[in-house]
Amino acid sequence: MTDIDLFVDRYVNIWNEPDDERRRETIRALWQEDAHHLARTLEAVGHDGIETRVRNAYEKWVKEKGCIFRPRDGVDGHVDPRHRRGSGVGSDSRVHFHPIHWSNSATTFTTAEEVIIHELFHAMRQAFGALRNTPMPDFKTVEELYSIFVENMYANEKGLPLRADKGPRNRSPDHSMAHNPAFHAPMRDLFAMMPTIGNALARVNNSYNPFRDWKEFSRTAH
Ligand SMILES: [Zn+2]
Repeated sequence: MTDIDLFVDRYVNIWNEPDDERRRETIRALWQEDAHHLARTLEAVGHDGIETRVRNAYEKWVKEKGCIFRPRDGVDGHVDPRHRRGSGVGSDSRVHFHPIHWSNSATTFTTAEEVIIHELFHAMRQAFGALRNTPMPDFKTVEELYSIFVENMYANEKGLPLRADKGPRNRSPDHSMAHNPAFHAPMRDLFAMMPTIGNALARVNNSYNPFRDWKEFSRTAH
């Protein structure tokens, strides 16, 4: 986990903080005294203003409605190069995960188990030095495509709705290689970079298995 991830983690968790004193201290650590926190319809100024803003949001969304603030997938930002540890051959990867952050998400179909599987696949790619954040239509990046495929294989076993892409879920999105030429290059790359993992995934005996589908498709069509 990079410094930017830690920062985002702290920033997001302040919105879930029930304790007044801890909230006050964290706000003083995260924001400068004369900071402005801007949202579309309001502007909070200074530590006191931000504290009121964060407390109001906590009371409305977390305390009353039972929601949990959480970061979106794929934090990015400007990282000081001195804190980059990547050597080009893979690097440590830390996943901050607590199932409680996902047990309450009534608005999505994502279970905690799907989240950790998805994130661990990103982490494994990073550890292999194989992470490629190449843009990909509908999926954001090829890494999202891979992680969503793996997450979906778990969801398929559990009878849960699958993700079509980064957007909403449906029962059975068409991820067949015959219908989606955009999937071919990422799948070819994955099997070239990590054949053991690709072949292991292809052997999973699921009805939904894009890795098996790719092996069969590439064998017959090309
Ligand atoms: Zn992801």
